[in-house]
Amino acid sequence: MTGNNLLLEVKNLRKYFPVRKGVFRRVVGHVKAVDDIDLFIRQGETLGLVGESGCGKTTAGRAILSLIQPTSGTILFRSKQLASGGEGSKVVDIATAPPKMLKTLRREMQIIFQDPYSSLNPRMTVAAIVGEGMLIHHTVDGIQREDRVRKLLQAVGLKPEQMRRYPHEFSGGQRQRIAIARALALDPQLMVADEPVSALDVSIQAQVINLLEDLQQQFHLTYLFITHDLSVVKHISNRVAVMYLGKIAELAATEELFTEPKHPYTEALMSAVPVPDPAFKTKRIILRGDVPSPINPPSGCPFHPRCHYAEDICKTRVPEYRNLGNDHFVTCHFADTLELKSLQF
Ligand code: ADP
Ligand code: MG
Repeated sequence: MTGNNLLLEVKNLRKYFPVRKGVFRRVVGHVKAVDDIDLFIRQGETLGLVGESGCGKTTAGRAILSLIQPTSGTILFRSKQLASGGEGSKVVDIATAPPKMLKTLRREMQIIFQDPYSSLNPRMTVAAIVGEGMLIHHTVDGIQREDRVRKLLQAVGLKPEQMRRYPHEFSGGQRQRIAIARALALDPQLMVADEPVSALDVSIQAQVINLLEDLQQQFHLTYLFITHDLSVVKHISNRVAVMYLGKIAELAATEELFTEPKHPYTEALMSAVPVPDPAFKTKRIILRGDVPSPINPPSGCPFHPRCHYAEDICKTRVPEYRNLGNDHFVTCHFADTLELKSLQF
């Protein structure tokens, strides 16, 4: 892994799900949910991962944490727990880590799921939910564990005396706060937040996002923030990766991505965001057709059937994922010459 400030580096990550048919459950194809992605995340930053539903965001997030076994690829992670003598750090490949090492790594990588209704065990008290990781990993015992649960609940804006209650006694936003407290309990370095506010009322989405931002400072966290909502990603991310059909179409610093998009898909996504100020109203780019199936992605550039700028080469040749400079990555044959609209919102 190049550079000491990198926490995570993903190379050639793939996750294919087999498609089975018939009585013998023969494999007749594969869903290429994540198809050869490269990215890195710097320590302390937020990388936004955005794209339409079904483009592979959740699969990418889970494969990165090895919650599902990647089909291939490397996932380098700078671990503190595995450093010798408890000092410094050690870079390990999560994709090939043996189970015991993975258990240690789990402390450093946590996930917040989209749906706070199904992610919390209804038969466990808040204290048991938030304290479970500490129990499993024997990090803090007995009285001290309760003490830490209290502190964590306060950190996420809940009252310590609520620890004896059960999930059903809380609202969606409060449940997501409990899930966040649980994720924080083992002092992680990396948090994957998979659409953490998408299931919540619009009125409380901002509160939870602000909380996540505060906690990032307080606990020195690094975020992979997954969302389909470009305005959320613009607000919270230092850099943004735009996914399309299992691949990264474009990845750049947030400011640069929004002012100088280089991929036609990014331009189209941005044009679909509603703008409050009519003075900034720009022509909406309507994407032709539906998202194609990841079982049988189009030839050449997978975006070509929907692209307004596509030429013949786009139908036959797969564009490379390349760095245009300044770590602005793009997968488009014409990224250097297209004049794409930057859309302000
Ligand atoms: P997103 O989070 O961007 O909406 P997902 O990662 O959930 O996308 O899904 C990407 C693709 O992989 C979709 O076509 C989805 O149907 C497929 N997929 C996800 N999980 C599985 C699975 N366990 N088995 C088969 N296909 C899956
Ligand atoms: Mg998802």
